[in-house]
Amino acid sequence: MLEKAVVGRITAALRRLPGVVVRKRHGTVMGLAGDPDLYGSINGRHFEIEVKRPNDPSSQLTKLQTERLLEWKIAGAITGVARSTDDALAILGLKRPPAPVWICAGCQQYRWQSDEPPARCPNCGHIHFDREAA
Ligand SMILES: [Zn+2]
Repeated sequence: MLEKAVVGRITAALRRLPGVVVRKRHGTVMGLAGDPDLYGSINGRHFEIEVKRPNDPSSQLTKLQTERLLEWKIAGAITGVARSTDDALAILGLKRPPAPVWICAGCQQYRWQSDEPPARCPNCGHIHFDREAA
C-alpha cells in the first residue's frame, strides 16, 4: 500500500470525529522540508502525524523528519508516526472500542469477535448469533 493511500484513509477517519480538524500538508516550495504529512487540532490541541507505509520496515523516518517531529513535540503538539488508521487514533488517544462478541444461538459454543456476526457457525451450521452483553 502506498503512503498516499494510508494518508487518505487516516484523513477520512479523523474527519468523522467531533472536535477534530485534520489537514494534509502538501510539499510546496513554501513548506518546510521534513514537516509531517498530517496536522490538525483535536479539542484544542495541535497534532502532527508522520505517515509511513504499513508492513514495510524500509519505510522509516528520515533524520530530518525525526527532528521536525521532536520540534513539534517540544512545542507541545501531540506527535506520532502512523502506519494505519488505528495508529493515528492511538496517537490521538482515541483507540477504537473493541468489536462486539457474537455467540452462536444454536450450539451456544462458537464465539466470534467482529463488528458483524459471521454468516454461519462452523460448529453447527446455525445462522443466528446473539450479541454478547458487554
Ligand atoms: Zn453453532
